[in-house]
Amino acid sequence: MCGNLTRFDVTRSSRVVEYVHLDLAGESRVEEREVLSETIESVRCRWCNAVDQVELVDRPGAQV
Ligand SMILES: [Zn+2]
Repeated sequence: MCGNLTRFDVTRSSRVVEYVHLDLAGESRVEEREVLSETIESVRCRWCNAVDQVELVDRPGAQV
């Protein structure tokens, strides 16, 4: 590790339900998002390229 503890590239897969609102022009906007499940696949340091199994603590209710 290079000492970086705060910035990582996180690869995650998630199942998400989005409440999509289409306006008359066909533009869509997500008004609500519910994360059904989320899995962190890898966490990589950009500086030294180390791939670590960093424990990311889930914060319930945090917006993604
Ligand atoms: Zn690093």
